[in-house]
Amino acid sequence: MDTLIRQFQALLGDNGVLTGADVSSREAAWGAGPCEAAAILRPRNTAEVAEILKICHGAGQPVVAQGGKTGLVQGCIASAQEIALSLERMNKIEDIDPASRTMTVEAGVPLQAVQEAAEAAGFSFPMDLGARGSATIGGNIATNAGGNRVIRHGMTRNLVLGIEAVTADGTVINSLSKVIKNNAAYDIKHLFIGSEGTLGIVTRAVLKLSPLLTSQNTVLAATDSFDKLTQLLNFMDRELGGQLSAFEVMWNSFYQLATNDLGTGKHSPMDRNYPYYILMESMGTDQEKEAERFENLLEQVFEQEMIVDAVIAKSHKERDELWQIRDNIESVVHWWPVFVFDISLPISNMNAYLLAMESGVRAKWPGANIAIFGHLGDGNLHLLIGVGEDTPELRHQVNEIVYGELAPLHGSLSAEHGIGLEKRNYLQYSRSPQEIALMRTIKAALDPTNILNPGKVLAPE
Ligand SMILES: Cc1cc2nc3c(=O)[nH]c(=O)nc-3n(C[C@H](O)[C@H](O)[C@H](O)COP(=O)(O)OP(=O)(O)OC[C@H]3O[C@@H](n4cnc5c(N)ncnc54)[C@H](O)[C@@H]3O)c2cc1C
Repeated sequence: MDTLIRQFQALLGDNGVLTGADVSSREAAWGAGPCEAAAILRPRNTAEVAEILKICHGAGQPVVAQGGKTGLVQGCIASAQEIALSLERMNKIEDIDPASRTMTVEAGVPLQAVQEAAEAAGFSFPMDLGARGSATIGGNIATNAGGNRVIRHGMTRNLVLGIEAVTADGTVINSLSKVIKNNAAYDIKHLFIGSEGTLGIVTRAVLKLSPLLTSQNTVLAATDSFDKLTQLLNFMDRELGGQLSAFEVMWNSFYQLATNDLGTGKHSPMDRNYPYYILMESMGTDQEKEAERFENLLEQVFEQEMIVDAVIAKSHKERDELWQIRDNIESVVHWWPVFVFDISLPISNMNAYLLAMESGVRAKWPGANIAIFGHLGDGNLHLLIGVGEDTPELRHQVNEIVYGELAPLHGSLSAEHGIGLEKRNYLQYSRSPQEIALMRTIKAALDPTNILNPGKVLAPE
């Protein structure tokens, strides 16, 4: 390792290579302990990333890409034998092209910086998530991140036009296309989007910009049955003509937790005993007209008994307060330890799944705490499950129930966060043997010596 580190120091300069206390003083990942990597490398450009990978490829040295380290499945955690490659110094916004409506960036730019630069240029980059200040575009691409506006704008995959990536042997693949339509054979960027640092290091990207939306209408509504939730979603999506930008649902179990009286709860603006709460938002460009239309639609859904109660946000402050309820994950501290899940399934199978999952958990742990919320419009649910303790064996038993019940209902064990280390042993619940075999073939072709984030996503055979 010492020889390798000297090679990296010669390539990157002293500032470009962190070792010892400079490594252990950093976090391994969001909320994890100290970083244990043998060294953290901080390249300044694509050429340096390519040289690093050539050296690592030659030496069989494993490399773990690190962006903002906000991923939640331990994908960016490097062991003491591995080298961490941080994109933190590759953080330039290189170009905004108003005619093509694109932005070209280096992979280490934080998402929030991209959003702000887009807005300053009169556009928007519509992907948004809670970790926006730290999460990087490279990490968003590597995890195909979702967030709160997927229902309208899609996942990261839908927002990236081109990519530059470096493969395991140091080859630079420049696929920095600015066009939406590019059917010139295989679309290489999709190989890297969602590959969690196992197929290449993403170094630059061309992002698709959207028109800047300046108006927002937000409501917290309540309903009394799951079927009405789906009717409401279809009605509002149709009637808002493409402006529906969020359709978040909180089951009563989560709402009670998020609005508790224990000091961590947010103020509830309505009765806390409805079975389902929906946070709906539309975005557009004409506040006055759209607010009138939005309120008119809410009257209709009330008359048609799709909802039983509603509170419309009348200011930015009120809007933020409604979102704070939805985002109040911290309130789960009262149940700690809790296992957190991020799953998806066809909305038509969702209720059946939840009944089966809940009865499976309660059969083993009758007093289990279970709370449910999520981006219902995207078929994405978050489950919080507490069974009293957190041991590897208990976690495995809960995983078996949560993921096992998904398989027959065509669900996915990862809606947004990826597989990393945490879910690799359960991949077979969402992917067929043929799909997994093809993934292994692709991995072997791009990374024959298995140096890129080894052991993540695909468990060692
Ligand atoms: C409070 C909070 C809210 C969140 N909300 C959401 C949400 O709504 N939706 C959602 O999808 N996720 C969410 N996340 C998870 C996380 O923010 C995303 O997965 C994000 O895309 C990770 O970006 P990052 O830069 O932090 O990547 P990291 O955590 O550093 O890395 C994630 C993975 O990508 C790889 N990687 C990182 N950079 C590169 C690169 N340049 N090239 C190749 N591989 C790379 C890493 O090796 C690792 O496997 C949330 C996290 C937090 C803490």
